[in-house]
Amino acid sequence: MIGDERIMPELPEVEYTARQLRSAVVGSTIREVQVFWERTIAHPQLSEFLTEIAGRRIEGVRRRGKFLLLDLSGDLFLSIHRRMTGNFLLLPADWEIDTRLRESDPLAWKTRGPEFHPPAATAVSYSRETSYCRVCFELADGRYLLFTDPRKFGRIELWPRVQEEAVFANLGPEPLSDAFTVERFAQALVGRRTGLKQTLLDQEVVAGIGNIYADEALYYACLHPARRADSLTPSEIRILHDGIVTVLTLGIEHGGTSFNDYRDLWGEAGQNYNHVRVYRQEGKPCGRCNTLIERIVIAQRSTHFCPHCQRTLVSAITS
Ligand SMILES: [Zn+2]
Repeated sequence: MIGDERIMPELPEVEYTARQLRSAVVGSTIREVQVFWERTIAHPQLSEFLTEIAGRRIEGVRRRGKFLLLDLSGDLFLSIHRRMTGNFLLLPADWEIDTRLRESDPLAWKTRGPEFHPPAATAVSYSRETSYCRVCFELADGRYLLFTDPRKFGRIELWPRVQEEAVFANLGPEPLSDAFTVERFAQALVGRRTGLKQTLLDQEVVAGIGNIYADEALYYACLHPARRADSLTPSEIRILHDGIVTVLTLGIEHGGTSFNDYRDLWGEAGQNYNHVRVYRQEGKPCGRCNTLIERIVIAQRSTHFCPHCQRTLVSAITS
């Protein structure tokens, strides 16, 4: 299942993590934060971040597009973008942080970060991947909330809540909210000469969709990924809107899609991989017509579709 193209967590993966975090950490207080890779903290300056966050209570967990948001006491919020390989992992109380690598092998330290050891008395064996921890939130009850990120592209920002609208000014509507109406979606497609695949990946059109769910939604709607976005009929727009909502909802129900990096809060892989219809299914028969699923590259992204169900129309662009 592991290919050379990395998978970014999309709306369902982030939403699923948000739900797990909500039941696990809301009400907890952040005693202190340890940062092992400084660039993970993108706003404000590291020293200010560390001072500001200590002692804050986690009041809520939300999601906006692919961003995970933690509401903190004092009207602040944390915004986390996991990018390619960022994951949250929650460790029970009394684990030990081992930073010996920092002195013994500074090069390995930069890659792997600290190690975490369970309390000696723990009988259960943990298979959790605690390597590559970039940021460790120490909760007042002794638990650790780790942000692990092998590739280091993930970013964490701390903002006053009054600035939320400005921070997300470029994000389109939430596809699973009332704001995402067929009319608004249709409006976003007017005059858009790019192909449908590229259009769905544009976070200003609709927030939270990435490679997996763009392919799945287009398959649902029987639309070719290279079809020009402004060429859809009203009924095609309605079906695509329905496809977006459906595949994202199913993705959440299945706990997200795991191929290589995505893990949930307890280190488990998501199950949606067993439910995708076209994504990474090239060479396998289409569930509707038995034609073999094909893979093409659009805007440097792997794109998977059924050449029979999703036929190119005259108005498709060539890419
Ligand atoms: Zn087909």
